[in-house]
Amino acid sequence: MIVVMSPSATKANVAAVRRTIEAHGLEAFVSVGQERTVVGVVGTDVDTVANIGSLEGVEQVIRVTQPYKLASLEHHRERTRVVVGGVPIGQEDELVAIAGPCSVESREMLLDTARWVRHEGARVLRGGAFKPRTSPYTFQGLGRPALEMLAEARAETGLPVVSEVTDAAEVELMERFVDLLQVGSRNMHNFVLLRAVGRSSRPVLLKRGFGATIEEWLMAAEYVLSSGNSNVILCERGIRTFETATRNTLDLSAVPLLRRHTHLPIAVDPSHGTGQRDLVTPMALAAAAAGADALLVEVHPDPPNARSDGPQSLSFAEFGALMDELRRLQFVRNGMRARERAPDSTAVAADAPTTGPDSTAPGRRAPTAVRALRGRIDDLDQRIATLLQERAAIALEVQEVRGLERHGHDVARERELLEQAARAGSGPLEPEELTAIFGAILRASRAAQRRRAEVHVLGRREP
Ligand code: PEP
Ligand code: MN
Repeated sequence: MIVVMSPSATKANVAAVRRTIEAHGLEAFVSVGQERTVVGVVGTDVDTVANIGSLEGVEQVIRVTQPYKLASLEHHRERTRVVVGGVPIGQEDELVAIAGPCSVESREMLLDTARWVRHEGARVLRGGAFKPRTSPYTFQGLGRPALEMLAEARAETGLPVVSEVTDAAEVELMERFVDLLQVGSRNMHNFVLLRAVGRSSRPVLLKRGFGATIEEWLMAAEYVLSSGNSNVILCERGIRTFETATRNTLDLSAVPLLRRHTHLPIAVDPSHGTGQRDLVTPMALAAAAAGADALLVEVHPDPPNARSDGPQSLSFAEFGALMDELRRLQFVRNGMRARERAPDSTAVAADAPTTGPDSTAPGRRAPTAVRALRGRIDDLDQRIATLLQERAAIALEVQEVRGLERHGHDVARERELLEQAARAGSGPLEPEELTAIFGAILRASRAAQRRRAEVHVLGRREP
């Protein structure tokens, strides 16, 4: 801490400042300059003299260290890994997906959702039992019965569960049912609750208050840490700004910023962060790219009929597609390491356990039946590639015959082709999926035609 004296401060003022500092067991280093004097304060707890600014002749008191100690990277250089029911969160190269409904609505919907999110690679199940809703007239959660359903879902799927604790008196009850205690955004400043979860043996997911600065958020974490619980995961979930187009403004810059200041794992909740289903996937991917350790995503079997947060909940198919995208991103993030370690992983994490009938543990070879089927797929892919080349070569011939003077792009015929493709054949692919595939084929053919035309029109050589 540095105490800056005003230019008019007297020697007696400086002496009084020094005496106050030393009386608190701290050291004072006085440096007399041309215009003013500054006093450096050194010691383990400089906060004890935080009021020194009110002494006569003091102009400014400047903090040079962070007010949070236990959460700070300065005091703990190694990144913390928090283990949630056996799932480590905060490992450098893994992203853990935490998914499930906003609130537990019934046993069936919870079990269906749990089975689905596990199938898609989620490693932790979420589900609200006690809901802190803005209106007292909306669904408040099923309470204790929901906790029992969560415990059943955990027993069946093996997924550890997270649920929000809204009251210090409920910590003991929650501990019996959940693996991770969530402190919600509205409760980030509830210091009684923070201390109560700080005394728990369960890890804590601490959401950012929607009006809290990063420093206030880290100070809230400090409450939990200083009460004895060192397992805290921070969760960015959007803050309130002047923007009304989204439910909150998801502050993704908080992720790399936090990594600079704290060793605690960082999660991002793109569901509450945006409030809109369409924005969840892009922001989840952006969070992963920014360095998040975990994602918290709301998933519902029937979002339009959800009892809470339907507009921001992903359907099962949407969640599956998000997980595919995350795996692609993760693959790029980890480079070839991911491939070497887990060629068959179904989880986002490169070496997460896999499930289902064709599951293969990391590094092990796939069973014979799976290998045989995959061999057939590989053959088919090669034939498809050959056919695609053949098709593109014909497209070039068409262009040749038609003459290379004009682009010859016939949008009407393209449309026809797409419509035909959508109707072609029957099988597991939906018409829109066939349309998307043929769209890509047409674009690639056009790209080949363009390269040929370039040679003709611009006199360039073909590469
Ligand atoms: C939740 O995750 O269920 C929730 C209520 O989120 P937040 O506290 O971030 O609003
Ligand atoms: Mn919600």
